[in-house]
Amino acid sequence: MKYDFASRERDFGRIVFALTLDRKKLTERIVIARSDEARLRLERGAGEVYYDETRPLGSLLLNFEGDKSGGWNKNAAILRESYGRAIPRMSARWKHAAPAAGYLREKSGSGEPSALFAAVRTWDEYLNCFNLNHGADLLTERLSALYRPFVLYADYKPWEEPAPSAMSAALRDSDSEVSLWYPAKKRTFEVVAAVASLLPVIQYYLHKLNEWGYVFQQCKICGRHFVARSRHYELCGDDCRRVQAALNKQEFDERAKGDKLEQLHENAYNYWYNRLRKLKKGTAADPEKAAAVVAAFKEYRREAVKRKTAVKNGGLSFTDYAAWLAEQQNAVDALMGAMAPKID
Ligand SMILES: [Zn+2]
Repeated sequence: MKYDFASRERDFGRIVFALTLDRKKLTERIVIARSDEARLRLERGAGEVYYDETRPLGSLLLNFEGDKSGGWNKNAAILRESYGRAIPRMSARWKHAAPAAGYLREKSGSGEPSALFAAVRTWDEYLNCFNLNHGADLLTERLSALYRPFVLYADYKPWEEPAPSAMSAALRDSDSEVSLWYPAKKRTFEVVAAVASLLPVIQYYLHKLNEWGYVFQQCKICGRHFVARSRHYELCGDDCRRVQAALNKQEFDERAKGDKLEQLHENAYNYWYNRLRKLKKGTAADPEKAAAVVAAFKEYRREAVKRKTAVKNGGLSFTDYAAWLAEQQNAVDALMGAMAPKID
């Protein structure tokens, strides 16, 4: 269900941000809805909700909305102004607030649940305070509590440092309230639900990860950060695991190819060496011919190493190298034959 940012009347019930973490599956589930609807969704899969997604564990912390440019607060100022006495006519008030509604609509469509929650809560609060005495003050107070984590958390990198003390210091009594639900009647399935501020949700989250001994890791394939059971895990998900497997195979194939090359090179060397040995020792020994083959062998070795390196660097194909070696073997055979001992 999409939230209606053109709505001029507030629905009943508070909008909650409900988070549940699955330690075994390494996932987080976030439901954003009016309180009753959120409970219905978590208990029975029913209920009208604005958001219900299950993502990899840590996603909320790693993608949390940031607001360095102060866009959220500038937007809040527009909403506050629309309450003012300077705009007595109702229709003019709504017209003044329209660009702010546009900003919120855009934020709610960004896919980031922390932004969606803030957007929906902002308009709900705007409608809530519309006809109240001191409505502008109340709105300012509530929205600044809502947006505070966007400033505090924007520069915070959960994989680098422990939660900044500024974050706990920023918590006021009114912001720190969360409720814990156990909708599945299983104690392990715990939902933390917040209304006024997401700061206690962040703290709850970090605390749970710490309690479980889970860590933030950087994927060695894609470079993204993710939450893992221990430092042992280096890949963020199935996609990167597939890439790694392909790389491993490629490396294996290259090594196997390298081994084959060395083997071929060595066999060819032995071929030459054995022929030379025949000329040096035994009944067929012939020092004069041996000297000629030694010279050819030396030349051959220099050239063979050069060509082997070329194969490794991709300058020469394996097949061409093998063909050249065979050619050289024919050459040394010819040399031996030409110099074969004369038959008296
Ligand atoms: Zn990855």
